[in-house]
Formats: sequence, structure tokens, C-alpha cells
Amino acid sequence: MSTVYYSSARVHKWKYDDSMPGKLERLLKEMDLARYFEPKEWVAVKTHFGSEGAHRIVRPVFLRKVVEALKTIGAKPFVTDTVRIKGLDYLEVANANGINHLSVGAPVVIADGLYGNDNIIVKAGEILGEIAVASLIHDVPAMVVCSHIKGHINSGYGGAIKNIAMGAVSAAHRHTGWRSGRGAMHAIGEGKLIWDAEKCELCYQCEEICPLECIKFQEGDKTFYYEDERCWRCGRCTRVCPEGAVIQEGADGEVFVRSLAEAAKAVLSTFKQGKVIYINFLTEIQPECDCMPGADVPVIQDQGILISEDIVAIEQASIDMLLKADPLPQSAASDKEIKPGDDVLLELNKSPYILQLEEAERLGLGKRQYKLIEI
Ligand code: SF4
Ligand code: SF4
Repeated sequence: MSTVYYSSARVHKWKYDDSMPGKLERLLKEMDLARYFEPKEWVAVKTHFGSEGAHRIVRPVFLRKVVEALKTIGAKPFVTDTVRIKGLDYLEVANANGINHLSVGAPVVIADGLYGNDNIIVKAGEILGEIAVASLIHDVPAMVVCSHIKGHINSGYGGAIKNIAMGAVSAAHRHTGWRSGRGAMHAIGEGKLIWDAEKCELCYQCEEICPLECIKFQEGDKTFYYEDERCWRCGRCTRVCPEGAVIQEGADGEVFVRSLAEAAKAVLSTFKQGKVIYINFLTEIQPECDCMPGADVPVIQDQGILISEDIVAIEQASIDMLLKADPLPQSAASDKEIKPGDDVLLELNKSPYILQLEEAERLGLGKRQYKLIEI
């Protein structure tokens, strides 16, 4: 059984020790980072920089605490993520969201190059075959995975598994394209986009949100056109369409969710045993991914911070906490009339997210049984 350390988000005493940054410091001390990382060793602090408009991410103050703790033991941390848009623009997004060298106390670098095609093909499993892991994450010897917990259009729950499955893999490989990149997971089942002209109100939100700019409305007849070969079925266009006029037909949601565990295993296969630890931030738990162009209000109140060396145990402990929490009023949860006792993220996104954990345990990434120690 793995140990998960936890600190609540509630503040009961008005002193630094009882603040969230103060509690994170204590959690990091309890983990005894010197057991995992060597002096002078490069350590990637993997986070998600967010996107233009999506400000609910792991806050820079927390990343700084992780960086400081690593420096205390003599390690050499840097903060990193893979690109969703071109790298220099993505660094500007990170900067705008408060993540830069000055704020976090360490270099902030792109893991897969300014064009997102600096990656290395790594053998995955029976679903994905192979996957393009960001070269920096492939090569670095150690990593602290800092994950913002939230919902997600496709995976239902986004945590540590998703942070490294999608977040440590490039969108596309230089030669094989998106089929061995992040799109390989999205496109599982080879769902095809169908557009319903009668329902479409020509609001163009689908065109605007496509990260690959592969949706275009023809000038004259205003017909939806998309480049099927380039589309990696991320589901954003279907998610934002207010009329239900774009649907993704034939996609296999269950296989997609399981494929995340397989990609996570491929990423972790590039590290020696005991060189990766995980911190889950159950804060500002919004209904959607941090890569959307906006962050809705939280659907569940802040729960706290968890830390563990076991990716499956920390995910299970995080989910168990979310299951015990009430849905928040005036949020997407109340819009959908989700009640206390309901599984909020399941009701919101209708994705069998627990399969991520089932598959991760089956693949030997960790154990769902855990011992929770509150610090
Ligand atoms: S699913 Fe939609 S938003 Fe995503 S890449 Fe394809 S066309 Fe673009
Ligand atoms: S988002 Fe939906 S309604 Fe708006 S243009 Fe696209 S298909 Fe039409």
C-alpha cells in the first residue's frame, strides 16, 4: 500500500504555517526529497502553463515552493511543459499566467522545442503502439509532476496521469505527424466529425477554438469544412458548439481513457525507478481542461494538496476526495442540477474517467490502495 501525504486547503490559524504555501513546504519536507533526487541533478518540474484566458492553473507561488525545496537539497530544477501553440507564444502565455523565471525561481523552458516537434518516439502498448515523448522529458533524469486537478472534455478527470500522458507528449512528431503525438490518444476509435447545417447558427466558435486551424467556413456558401487528415479529434469544436451541430461520430471514449495510462507508462519508462514524484493540487477545480480559452468557476471547493511517489495512489486519493465533496452553487455543476453525493466530474463530462486508474494499475504504474497521512 502506498502512502499519500495530504494537507487541507482550509486555514484555521492565521499564521504562515497554516497557509497553503506553508503547508506545501511541510509536505515537501515530509517527502524527504533527498531520497529521490541527487545534488546537481536536473529535475523537471512538469506543470501546465494554461492558455490565454485559462488562468486556473497550479499557481506560480506553489511552483516556487517546489523549486526552492529542490534547490535546498542541491538539485537543479527547471519548470517545463510541452507546447499547445507555437513555443514562443506559449512562453508568453506562461508569462501572462504568472509563470516565469523570476516568479518560480528557475528557468521556464519548453519541453519539446519551439515548434513542438522536438521529441523522441518511445514504445507504448497495445493501444497506442508508440508515442512521441518530449525530448527534454525523455532525457531528464528526474521529475516532479505538479498537476492541477480539474474536469476534462474527453478524459472526465484530469490529474497526474493526464498531465504526463498528454502533457509530456508532443502534439505531433516531425515525420509521423499527430498519429504518434498527442492526437494519437484523441483519435483512438478514429471518430469522424459530422456537421449538421440545419442546426448551425454560424457563430464560428468551432473555427476559433480549433488548435490546428483545420476548420474553415467557406466564404460564399458558409459551409463547414475541416481537414480530416490534420484533425486529431481533440473534441474542442464539439464541446463549444452551442447548437450540437458538430458531433464526433465513432470515437471510442473508453479506449481513449485507457490510452492515457498507456501513454503515461511510456513517458515514465524513460525514468529510472524512484526518480519521479507527484503533487496534485485540488484547487480551483474547474469543469474543463486548462488548455481551453477560458476557465469557468470551480465546480468543487478547494480540497488541498496531495503528494506521493505513487501516481495511481495519488490519483485515487484525489478522486476519493472529490467524491466526498459537494458540488458548488452558481457553477456548471448547478447548471446540470448535480446534487451532493453525485460524482460531479462524471456527471459533467460523462466520461468513465476511473478507467485511467484501472488501466494504470493493470500496467503496474502503482496501486489504488493507499494510506492517507494528513500533515
Ligand atoms: S476535433 Fe475539432 S477542434 Fe479538434 S482538431 Fe479536430 S477540428 Fe480541430
Ligand atoms: S460552433 Fe456550432 S453553431 Fe457555431 S459555427 Fe460551429 S457548428 Fe455552427
